[in-house]
Amino acid sequence: MSAEPPLFATYRPASFCRDFVDFHRDSGQLLVFMACVLGFKPLMDDWIPAWRMEEYRQLCRSYGLHVRADVTKILIPRERAEARAMGGTTLSSTVAVGLPVGAGFPERARANVRTHVFLSRDRDLLRHGMWYPVIVKDRVLWPPYADILTYGRLLGYPDCCIRFFRQRNDWSRFSFLAEIHRESRGAPRHWLCNPLTKDRTYSYIYHMPCRWDCPATRKLAGRLRSEVALREPELVRQVDRHLRLPALVFYERKHFVFDGTLQGNRLTYRKVYYPDGDLTGQALLPRLARGDALELEGDTVRVFRDGELVDRIQARSEGFAPEHPFLIQFDRD
Ligand SMILES: [Zn+2]
Repeated sequence: MSAEPPLFATYRPASFCRDFVDFHRDSGQLLVFMACVLGFKPLMDDWIPAWRMEEYRQLCRSYGLHVRADVTKILIPRERAEARAMGGTTLSSTVAVGLPVGAGFPERARANVRTHVFLSRDRDLLRHGMWYPVIVKDRVLWPPYADILTYGRLLGYPDCCIRFFRQRNDWSRFSFLAEIHRESRGAPRHWLCNPLTKDRTYSYIYHMPCRWDCPATRKLAGRLRSEVALREPELVRQVDRHLRLPALVFYERKHFVFDGTLQGNRLTYRKVYYPDGDLTGQALLPRLARGDALELEGDTVRVFRDGELVDRIQARSEGFAPEHPFLIQFDRD
């Protein structure tokens, strides 16, 4: 009997959608792509190297998906945007300079030139664009709120979850995950509603649920799971394994997943993983890795090794994207 693969490893399917993973050399969006191919998700977006557009188009066509190129961008370090634009620190993960699709670019920049694309089985849906925050004349402009709601539906999110997103997804005031957690007080934590591994392959959902027991999310995730199980059963086994792991959440872009067990307020662990990009989280990883247990008290995480307190980590609960830490394990079927 072979050992389990490492957690959060890139997943390469036996056959179904294997070429999508080979194209990206990464499986981060594999289940989103499968959801689109199988008809659960009306629309998805992706970033691809501009010079590989034709190859990508053919790959998508073989799965019955249409592709629309939206904009071509040269990726830049986010510090450059933060330094130059008003509101630059509020930008999300990807920061880039926009070019018209088909614009020429210097050969030496090729590796950093990406085209943003939308995919759908329904060609008509591709007429809808989608906004990201953009910098115009050194100021960050956010998309109109009404558009965000429409896109939520096009992206296949349940209405109850869009409603909740609309009320509480305000990074200047709330930690959205902590708001979901608060809303779910006393409710069971269904692993099908776990959004914490969604950007790293291992999740059946691609939205934030309104609660940890949201019936619409469970139904949607359960249906996708059944269809994927028919085509790629090993992937389902691996996703199920990831969704049940305990986690320490600081805010939406900073949470840790553990190979361990959560009991009450104490998490004991063998290994810690960081599936996010926030750099302050990256710096915490070795500090957590030194321990084998942790406890959360208010906004303070206490780290233990062999029963001895070895570190204290203080969450930053003030300012933009405030941290309201909590521990969670999704353990209900
Ligand atoms: Zn919901």
